Amino acid sequence: MAVLDFPGDMVPLDKEQQGRLRRDLHPAQLLLVCLNDICPRGPPPKPPSDSSPNPNQSPEESFHTFVNKLAQILDFEPKGNTITALTVILLDAKVTYVFASNQRGPGALNNARKCLKEVLDILKSNIEATSKAPDHVIEKRLMDKILWWNKVRVRSYLTALSKELQTCMGRCDNTQEGTKAKQALADLASTLPDLNQGGQKTEIYIEATVQCIKAIQANRNSPLQRYISARSAEDHNMGKGGSWSNLQHAAGRLLSYQYAVEVLVHAHHMWADTDLFRDFEIESIRSSKPYPADANLLNPTPETAELILNRAPGTEVHKQELKQSAVELEKYHLKKHFQSRWEAQAQAEKGMRRIVHAEILLHSWLLATEGGVRSHRFFQGWQYIGTSKPPCRMCTEYFTTVISTPVQFRAPHPNSYLNFRLPDPYVDGKQKGKEQREKQARQKWCEDLGKMKAGVYAAVARVLREKVAEWKRFDSNTYTDRVRSVRGDGGDVALLTSWLGR
Ligand SMILES: [Zn+2]
Repeated sequence: MAVLDFPGDMVPLDKEQQGRLRRDLHPAQLLLVCLNDICPRGPPPKPPSDSSPNPNQSPEESFHTFVNKLAQILDFEPKGNTITALTVILLDAKVTYVFASNQRGPGALNNARKCLKEVLDILKSNIEATSKAPDHVIEKRLMDKILWWNKVRVRSYLTALSKELQTCMGRCDNTQEGTKAKQALADLASTLPDLNQGGQKTEIYIEATVQCIKAIQANRNSPLQRYISARSAEDHNMGKGGSWSNLQHAAGRLLSYQYAVEVLVHAHHMWADTDLFRDFEIESIRSSKPYPADANLLNPTPETAELILNRAPGTEVHKQELKQSAVELEKYHLKKHFQSRWEAQAQAEKGMRRIVHAEILLHSWLLATEGGVRSHRFFQGWQYIGTSKPPCRMCTEYFTTVISTPVQFRAPHPNSYLNFRLPDPYVDGKQKGKEQREKQARQKWCEDLGKMKAGVYAAVARVLREKVAEWKRFDSNTYTDRVRSVRGDGGDVALLTSWLGR
């Protein structure tokens, strides 16, 4: 159960590769982020297709939801380091859960493995028991376990919820509906665990959190939820999300733990006869190592949008069009914003780690090891990588523009992160000709970078043309994955629309 490495030696970035990043990728990426910042927001995002609980979900789709939920419960902390991708494959002829995280050291990976084992063991022991516990009992056991491991993240949601509840109470209008909503918000606030009492026993804190999640669940389809949804939609129209949508998001994320335990219980009924819960291994992949501190990946002096668009792939006419669109965006002060964006990034550059995002890391590891991403390697032949967050714009470009893969992922979200990096090449270090292999690996990396560049410039062109940001405030779904309600309470649509506002 050690941390898994890639076979071979990593080929470090050379000066030429650094130059390519400085010239071809990072400026365009920074421009894309800036354009998304300054342009007005587009229409509210549609819920990703995999988040819509569908009573007719096929076994394979249910499995996707299950894998995403496992990834979610391993994403212990906010801020992105623990974002996790997970797949179930046959490794040495044994069902094996394999996951990777954005930035976790070996100790943290071990903890995540421990969490997953404890969760799966709850399901395993119920499957193997002669008298089965009812679902709600198993759900409660899972919930306690999951909230314990996720206490840092859960606390951040509770803190946000507490803050926004106070703000929103103050913003309820004096209509009858508003007065009722204010009372209902106060009732919900009264279920919050005491966030100031640090010395409180964890069990008590978790129990209070469970009650709070129940209260959120009980409010689905209530007049309160409709009131919040309407205010939240107003937030969206104002351009920058506000307290109502923050409230909706925090409540939705807490509720997602309830959906997660329901999905897990459903899965353990569905695949009770397989090894999925009976006889399995758990492995994790080492997170990417930081680039050397002296790697110089962004010019310290800001470039202009015009200069960057001059390097766009395509004809002179195309470049002229892009530059003209950029001039039109002066109404949003593109020049000024872009310069300060660049300066801020140049400052941040030293402390920032560019990382291989979890889904790319896991996918690359599969490719580098025996069996690759061929279907026979996956549980039931289902080529799927689940993630705790929808894949970002850069990962999506990678999977669609740079490589083509039979592996499926969650529906993407349009946010683009500056800490993205292409997967690192590895070569066999033992035999002769290593230098030649390294050279080839670097060439291949440069080809991939060229494709990535084309994808990013295409995204830049789209925003320039449409002058509408492809922007989404939260990168986890406020809508949340869930399989058909196994209790048959017809709750799918209700669960989806409650707190969600659509
Ligand atoms: Zn990504």
